[in-house]
Amino acid sequence: MSSPREERVIEEFQRRRQTLLRNFALAMVLIGLGLGLRQLIDSYPNFLGIGVNTWRALSIAQLISGVVFAVTGFNQYKCPVCDKILRAHDKYYLGVAINPDKCPHCGARLS
Ligand SMILES: [Zn+2]
Repeated sequence: MSSPREERVIEEFQRRRQTLLRNFALAMVLIGLGLGLRQLIDSYPNFLGIGVNTWRALSIAQLISGVVFAVTGFNQYKCPVCDKILRAHDKYYLGVAINPDKCPHCGARLS
């Protein structure tokens, strides 16, 4: 059985985990769209009457925001107790433990 304090830690960690997964999903969509857009403007240089440079800038903006979302998600994915990012050496997913039972640093229960 876990104490109310442990319950709060688990709850807070699960919230951060959701943010991480949501940000990674968003990042993948944005990067996918950015790359798709680049291919599209190669095939249709004047797509929708908008110039190539505008499309190119837009696709770069999508790629950058995708990376920003991924990094932001990664940076907030910390143990609520010791505040360290949950890196993992097994079950790699961009180098973080996606569903850890315990914090690898301080041993706090996280799920
Ligand atoms: Zn910890």
